[in-house]
Amino acid sequence: MTETTDEQHDEQRRAELARRLAQVEERIAGACAAAGRPREDVTLIVVTKTHPARDVRLLAELGVRHVAENRDQEAAPKAAACAELPLTWHFVGQLQTNKVRSVVTYADMVHSVDRHRLVTALSKAAVRAGRGSRLPELGCLLQVAFDKETGQGDGRGGLAPDAVPELADAVAEAPGLRCAGVMTVAPLEGPLAGKPKEVFARLWDISTRLRATHPAATMISAGMSGDLEEAVTAGATHVRVGTAVLGVRPRLR
Ligand SMILES: *Cc1c(COP(=O)(O)O)cnc(C)c1O
Repeated sequence: MTETTDEQHDEQRRAELARRLAQVEERIAGACAAAGRPREDVTLIVVTKTHPARDVRLLAELGVRHVAENRDQEAAPKAAACAELPLTWHFVGQLQTNKVRSVVTYADMVHSVDRHRLVTALSKAAVRAGRGSRLPELGCLLQVAFDKETGQGDGRGGLAPDAVPELADAVAEAPGLRCAGVMTVAPLEGPLAGKPKEVFARLWDISTRLRATHPAATMISAGMSGDLEEAVTAGATHVRVGTAVLGVRPRLR
C-alpha cells in the first residue's frame, strides 16, 4: 500500500521535474542561440538544497549530471545517499573552515572560495582526502562579490574583484586544489543591485584577466533561475538553477 503511494508520488514528481527541466533547457538553449554560442558551452547545475535525495535521484534519471548544495549538514547525507549516481557535486554556499573536512569527501567543485584561511583549510583537507594523488584535485572557484569595493568575505561571502588575482595564485599553489574559475551571485544591495547584465559583464572581464595567468581557470559560474539568460549572454559556462527546476523551496528552519 505504502509502496504504491510512494511510487505514484515519484511518478508525479518525475513528470513535474521533467516538465520544468524541459522549460529550463529551452531557456538555456534560447539564450545560447541568441548569443551565438553552442549549447554545449553551458552546463546546467541543478541546485537541490532543501529538496530530498529522492529528487536528486529522479533528476539523475532524467539526465541531470551536475547538482549543487549550499550547506554541509544537508549536503553530506544527501551525497552519501546518492553516492552511486553518476553526478558531479558542486558546493555553492558559504563555507566555514570547520566544515571543509566533510565537504572535500563529496564535492568535486567548491564555488565559494573567498579567503586565504579557507584556501589553507581546503588544501589541508583535500590532501588528507587523497586529492591530487589518488583522486583528482578539488576544483575551486573564486566567489566575487560585486557589492564589495575591497577586501575579503564578510556576511554574504565573496571577495572584492581586486582581490581575485592574489587568491587565485594562492589556490593554484595550494596542494590538492586547482583554480577552476570564478563565480558570482548578482548582488541584492549596492549600486549593481538589479543589474545582472552589468554584473555578469564584469565577471567576464575578471575571468578574462584570470585566464591570462591561469589558462585552465575557464569556469564562469553565474546565473540562477531569475537571471540565467543574462548570464549566458555574458559568457557564463555554468548556470546554477534551483527554483525553476524544483519549484519553490520548502522553508528553512
Ligand atoms: C540557491 C542558490 C542558487 C539557485 O537559486 P534559484 O533562484 O533557486 O535558482 C544559485 N546559487 C546559489 C549560490 C544558491 O545558494
